[in-house]
Amino acid sequence: MKSSFKCEKYLVAQMPTKYKVCMARLHLSCHKLEIETGRYHKLYPKPANERICRQCPYGRVEDEAHFLFSCEKYDTLRTRLYSDLQDINVTLNVHDPNALKIFDCDDTRVLLCLGRYISQCLLLRS
Ligand SMILES: [Zn+2]
Repeated sequence: MKSSFKCEKYLVAQMPTKYKVCMARLHLSCHKLEIETGRYHKLYPKPANERICRQCPYGRVEDEAHFLFSCEKYDTLRTRLYSDLQDINVTLNVHDPNALKIFDCDDTRVLLCLGRYISQCLLLRS
C-alpha cells in the first residue's frame, strides 16, 4: 500500500499513539488482513484473488481498500467516520481509486478521524 519513502504525516500529527500505530500497520501492510496472511504459508500461499474476507459474506478479497471502505462488518463505524468527516467539511469518496491517499492528508482532523476509525475497526475484527 505504501509506495514511497517519506515521513508520513500521520506519524507526526497530534493524535494518540495507538492511532498512529494502527495507521502505520495498515499502511505498511503489517496487519492480519487475508491479503497478507494468505501469503504466509510457505508451500501453498493462496493466490491473491483467493484471500477472501471472512468478516463478511460477500466473497471479496480482504485487502486494505475492502477493509477500510466496503466490508460490511465495519458499516456502523464507517457511518460514524463519514459523519465525523462531514462535521469538518470533508467528503471521502470510497469509489475513487485514489481514496487510500487519505493517508497522505495534511489535515490533522482528518487523520484523527481516520486513526480512530481504523483503531476501532481493528478492535472489532480481533
Ligand atoms: Zn469483508
